[in-house]
Amino acid sequence: MNNYDLVIIGGGPAGLTAGIYAKRAGLSTLMLEKAAPGGQIMVTDWIENYPGFPEGLAGYELTMKMEEQAKKFGLEIRSASVESLNLDGEEKEVILSKDSIKAKSVIIASGCSPRKIGIPGETEFFGKGISTCATCDAMFFKGRDVVAIGGGDTAVQESLFLTKFVNKVYLVHRRDKLRATKILQERAFTNDKIEFVWDSVPVEICGESSVKSVKIKNVKNGNIRELDAAGCFIWIGTTPNTEFLDSKIVVDQGGFIITNNQMETSVKGVFAAGDVRNTPLRQVSTAVGDAAIAATYADKYIESL
Ligand code: NAP
Repeated sequence: MNNYDLVIIGGGPAGLTAGIYAKRAGLSTLMLEKAAPGGQIMVTDWIENYPGFPEGLAGYELTMKMEEQAKKFGLEIRSASVESLNLDGEEKEVILSKDSIKAKSVIIASGCSPRKIGIPGETEFFGKGISTCATCDAMFFKGRDVVAIGGGDTAVQESLFLTKFVNKVYLVHRRDKLRATKILQERAFTNDKIEFVWDSVPVEICGESSVKSVKIKNVKNGNIRELDAAGCFIWIGTTPNTEFLDSKIVVDQGGFIITNNQMETSVKGVFAAGDVRNTPLRQVSTAVGDAAIAATYADKYIESL
C-alpha cells in the first residue's frame, strides 16, 4: 500500500511514540526509518533520566521496548531513506528512491546526527581512530589513551563510559566550564581516568594508517600541544537530519524545524517532533512529549479534512 493517513519520517523515540499515538487514534500509519529504529539512543550506553526505569536502562533496550509497543498497536515500519517531499497539494507526497508514499499528514521525526568540526585529519581518519560512538568503538581502545572533544552531556556521559575500557581520556573543551548536567560533571571530576584540558580546541588529528595524536590549541594563549592518543571521539553537538526538506518548511538558523506548540510546521498538515525541531531541550522525554502532541494534532487535522 502506498497511501496512508499519516507517514512518520524517522524511527527514534519521537517517531515510535508518534506511531503509538497514531495507531491508537485509528490512523493508517507508516513509519519510515533509514536504518534500524532507535535513532541516537541506539548508541547511548545508559539512560537514567527517562522516568519509569529507576535502575536506568541501555538505549537499545528502551528502543526495543518502544518498538514492541508500537508494533503491538499495528504500526507498519518500512526501512527506506526519504529523498524529498512534495507538499504542493493537500495530499502530501514522500518521495523515496524507488517509489513514493502519499499521505494526508506527515510527522517529521528524523532526529539529528553528530556535528563535524572541520579540521585536517577528521575525514581521513574517520573510522580509523575517530568515532562518535563510544558504545560501538570503546573496546577497540582497551588500555590506550584517547581524546574526547566537547563539554556537553554527550561528551561527558560517553567519556565516563570510555573509562571502563581505556587507560585515559583527555577531555578537551573550548571553555573552562562544562555545559553538561551537574550530576555528570560530578562523576567526571571524581573519575581519575579523565584528564580535563580546558580552553582548548582541536586543530588537527594526526596519524598514519590510524590516529596517533591530536593537536590542540589553547584559545587563551594560542599554545599548541600534541596529545598522544589512539582514538579521538568527537561530541560537539548535533545537526538536524533535514536533507530531504522542502523549502516551504521554515527552519531556524541552525536548520532545526520551527513549529508552533501543536508541533505544526509552516505547512498545514506537516508536523515535527523531537531533536529535529527547534526545541530548547533534546532528551528522550521531550521527544516523546513532542510526538504525543504531534500525533494528536495530526489526527485532528486529518479529521478536519
Ligand atoms: P551540546 O549540548 O550542544 O554540547 C556541545 C558541546 O560541544 C558544548 O560543550 C560546546 O561548547 C562544544 N562545541 C560546540 N561546537 C564546538 C566546536 N566547533 N569546537 C569545540 N567544541 C565545540 O551537544 P550534546 O552534548 O551532543 O547534547 C545534545 C543534546 O542531547 C543536549 O540537549 C543534551 O542535553 C542531550 N543529551 C542528554 C543526555 C542526558 O540527559 N544524559 C545525554 C546526551 C545528550 P560550549 O559549551 O562552549 O558551547
